Amino acid sequence: MPPASTPVLARVCVFCGSSSGTDPRYAEAAAQMGSELARRGIGLVYGGGSVGLMGVVADAVLAAGGEVTGVIPGFLHRREVAHGGVDDLRVVGSMHDRKALMADLADAFVALPGGIGTFEELFEALTWTQLGVHDKPVALLDVGDFWAPVLALLDRAVDDGFLRRDVRASVIYATTPADVLEAFTRWQRPDVGKWIDLDPLPDASDTHTELL
Ligand code: AMP
Repeated sequence: MPPASTPVLARVCVFCGSSSGTDPRYAEAAAQMGSELARRGIGLVYGGGSVGLMGVVADAVLAAGGEVTGVIPGFLHRREVAHGGVDDLRVVGSMHDRKALMADLADAFVALPGGIGTFEELFEALTWTQLGVHDKPVALLDVGDFWAPVLALLDRAVDDGFLRRDVRASVIYATTPADVLEAFTRWQRPDVGKWIDLDPLPDASDTHTELL
């Protein structure tokens, strides 16, 4: 692995709740994610908000002297939920523009616990990996088994022939920010055709088992 001073990843996009959640461990994980990014010299790309876990991640990066790029649609900016301490705040026209710009700016994505907005961003990033729209890893940072139902659903989709096993295996799962960032550096994109029916589903023994 290269030394921490020469990151393979320039910027990582964090998806997470605009609420803080009921368990204090969520905010602790968000703060750890932010400080670990800054410690490794990796910039944060995120939704530009000051609220919930989003604000916690951004605050932690800024407190550790790291770089933060916020991407926020105008209507949220006008509602004054934008983070006032983020110098590089890009105000875009729509939620779609936001996701496109976040995906362009970042080299990898990690989802922390959150709600529908987080799920939507996570699944779009995974879809783009599946389709080869981008070659960027996507990770779940778990806290208290929050992501267990999503993992179970992905497994069900594999079992029932809706999701390729190698795409499923390409989803990084970890319980610490350091493990997420290290898994990003080892990640290899799944070699997939666009559609599930183009190739036979690979044998389970052929797929990468290290990450999931
Ligand atoms: P949710 O998980 O439903 O709280 O939504 C969080 C995700 O949606 C974040 O990753 C943001 O990109 C976006 N989002 C939702 N609410 C806000 C907000 N008030 N300010 C900025 N972004 C938000």
